[in-house]
Amino acid sequence: MPTIHKFDTVIIGAGGAGLMAALHASRSVSTAVVSKLYPTRSHTGAAQGGIAAALANMEPDSWEWHMFDTIKGGDYLVDQDAAEVLARDAIEAVLELEHMGLPFDRTPEGRIEQRRFGGHTANFGERPVMRSCKAADRTGHMILQTLYQQCIKNRVNFYDEFFVADLIMDAGACVGCVAIEIATGETHIFHAKSVVVASGGFGKIFKVTSNAHTLTGDAVAAVWRRGLPLQDMEFYQFHPTGIYKMGILLSEAARGEGAVPAVVKAASMMRRFCMLTVKRQSGRSAASRQVSEARVAIASSWCA
Ligand SMILES: Cc1cc2nc3c(=O)[nH]c(=O)nc-3n(C[C@H](O)[C@H](O)[C@H](O)COP(=O)(O)OP(=O)(O)OC[C@H]3O[C@@H](n4cnc5c(N)ncnc54)[C@H](O)[C@@H]3O)c2cc1C
Repeated sequence: MPTIHKFDTVIIGAGGAGLMAALHASRSVSTAVVSKLYPTRSHTGAAQGGIAAALANMEPDSWEWHMFDTIKGGDYLVDQDAAEVLARDAIEAVLELEHMGLPFDRTPEGRIEQRRFGGHTANFGERPVMRSCKAADRTGHMILQTLYQQCIKNRVNFYDEFFVADLIMDAGACVGCVAIEIATGETHIFHAKSVVVASGGFGKIFKVTSNAHTLTGDAVAAVWRRGLPLQDMEFYQFHPTGIYKMGILLSEAARGEGAVPAVVKAASMMRRFCMLTVKRQSGRSAASRQVSEARVAIASSWCA
């Protein structure tokens, strides 16, 4: 017989998104987090570079410039209202994490230190700006630790290493989920007034990816099987300084400091290609495209 649980809110996933949702929900309703991984092993822990917020702690910055970079970085296909919320609320979100105890790096004056990252610009693309807030090279790890501790303090109910296999539907509404406890194989039924799916990405659809082996998209597939809408599925980010075959990243901070991928440099030296936009001001998508265009330019010059 499956074990039955009842909560006001059930959150599937214990990464940065799931834990923040759980923390806020737990302030007013009974909340459970169901995760196939132990929370602090979620892939958010891989994020090293930092979190963008126009705090202007190091030099002038504004959320409007951040919003512009976000929209440009998405090739102007971005939902601009969402970009506004992201850029405006990032400031408050970083301060909220700081107040929870996240050990951000500090300036000598004690403010959150910020650094340059590819695609972060001042005055609508004019020059690079220091916008990335970080905790050494463990920003995501520290986000998970901080949020998890706050959730424990708020008595969030955790079901760790429980694999969600399906959603429970009632008249078109999601009212819970079915999970398998990995250690025992036992089935658990979770009933909830609201269900939040925060199950992360699914980079494992690609052969070479920086995503962990766990990012297989199984929870997203359950959503799809139950006929619920999935939005913007064609948007997947390619990383311009990912290392081929190995699936690890050379930090975006390298471009932020002015590094240019060697293949683009070579192509531009052949005067067949203009290198300008792959500099630190370009977003990841534009920079990734230029890297592959440079490869094609070099390959076709060999053929010629
Ligand atoms: C190498 C790397 C570096 C990055 N660096 C940065 C950076 O510097 N700055 C930045 O802003 N972003 C960075 N990102 C992106 C950022 O880390 C992610 O966008 C973000 O962490 C995603 O958080 P999440 O909570 O949505 O997902 P995750 O942290 O992946 O959490 C997903 C959760 O869902 C659970 N789950 C999934 N399927 C199931 C299931 N079937 N049943 C139960 N539980 C399930 C997992 O157990 C996990 O707890 C980086 C990403 C990578 C891969």
